[in-house]
Amino acid sequence: MAKAAPTDMTSKYTTGQFQQIIDKCEGCDRTIEVETIRYCATYTMPESKWRLGICNFATHVKPEISVSTLKINPLKASKRAATKGKKK
Ligand code: SF4
Repeated sequence: MAKAAPTDMTSKYTTGQFQQIIDKCEGCDRTIEVETIRYCATYTMPESKWRLGICNFATHVKPEISVSTLKINPLKASKRAATKGKKK
């Protein structure tokens, strides 16, 4: 949830250097609220962090990693590949 920024840090966000968070940032713990506007405490341009996929510092979204559990014996696989080419 968005935390309220300490009063001495508000000028950092209100100067225009920081941009507002986007919809995808909703629920992230790095958001900070300054004068009813929510900013990212880590990045100045949150939209650019989501341009290529999931923001790598997002606390509310984790990348999905798929792990294949199929084990292949390399010797059998090479034999299978060799015989596959000989079949008519
Ligand atoms: S860390 Fe990423 S997801 Fe979280 S508020 Fe900043 S830009 Fe948005």
